[in-house]
Amino acid sequence: MALRSKKLKPLLFPIILAILFIGVVAFGIRADSPGTDTTEPRQEQSSHKTKHAKEKPAFDKSRYSIDEADSIWVVVNKSRPLNPITYAPNDLMSAGNGQLMRRAAVAALQEMFKAAATEGLNLQPLSGYRSYDTQQTVYSREVATYGQAVADTQSAKPGHSEHQTGLGIDIGGGGCGIEDCFGNTAEGKWVATNGHTYGFIIRYPEGKEAVTGYRYEPWHLRYVGKALAAEMKRTNTVTLEEFFSL
Ligand SMILES: [Zn+2]
Repeated sequence: MALRSKKLKPLLFPIILAILFIGVVAFGIRADSPGTDTTEPRQEQSSHKTKHAKEKPAFDKSRYSIDEADSIWVVVNKSRPLNPITYAPNDLMSAGNGQLMRRAAVAALQEMFKAAATEGLNLQPLSGYRSYDTQQTVYSREVATYGQAVADTQSAKPGHSEHQTGLGIDIGGGGCGIEDCFGNTAEGKWVATNGHTYGFIIRYPEGKEAVTGYRYEPWHLRYVGKALAAEMKRTNTVTLEEFFSL
């Protein structure tokens, strides 16, 4: 037995080499031939690229009006009064705490407050919709207390207030109400970070006084809808005036 296997060994080596050679040549032909599985990933790649391009259409900035009082994108500021100036929304609902907002804004606010509550944060609606007449009273009181120059940095003339749209709300939490301290509470920070997910923006951000005409108000939220809030976040544009180039 030992003698026979010694004689076979020199023969086995070239046979193994020949088998390996045939295998390599056969694999090479298979890899090059069309219709085999190696072409499928290439097709998948190209179709994936096409699909990705279709998923990202350009954001349509004219989808909703920024001029009509009942549009969720309406832009109201010192130089853009509501039209009509005594506008009142027709779908006001309770936002809690005796405050009113428009239907879509209430739904979004409740969704946001619920999400905050799951993280142990307690947010409260403090001042929602104000009619033209109510805003007249608020503004006159501010002027009487602080003088017109100061009043104009923190209170809107009637017909020029976001609160009259039914889409604006002042909130509080973390032991702070409508005050600067709200921005430093866990609640205020959470809202600044997550508000856009629910369709809200901090309407008067820090450092944008020259753009909005108002000082930083971490408590004043404006509902603009999830699509616009997400696009403003994506493009890192913090004011409506800048986003719509006003
Ligand atoms: Zn406000």
